Amino acid sequence: MSERATRRQVMAVAAQFGIRVHDDGEKVSIDAPRYYVLKGSGLHFTDVRYGAAHGAWPKPEVWGEVLHDIRDGIEPCEDPECDCCHDDEGWAQWEERVRQEDAEDDHA
Ligand SMILES: [Zn+2]
Repeated sequence: MSERATRRQVMAVAAQFGIRVHDDGEKVSIDAPRYYVLKGSGLHFTDVRYGAAHGAWPKPEVWGEVLHDIRDGIEPCEDPECDCCHDDEGWAQWEERVRQEDAEDDHA
């Protein structure tokens, strides 16, 4: 972990690919859109943890790590029986969580 980036850089790349990036103060969660995975890792979602319990990384390095995870973009999930893509209930919960987080951000 040596790269550094800004939140602004990360959000610009995330917006380009439709990736959701959310910072809750302890970790930055990264979620690819439904039916897509992060091209760099093949993951539907991942977290970059940086809070005190995880070594309290400096923010520029946290954003550098997030940028590393998302900068290759996304690609379609190729698993026709993928548990993640076909979990309607899980996605409904995810959308609800996103709504709540966005509402909290608006009040922050
Ligand atoms: Zn999938």
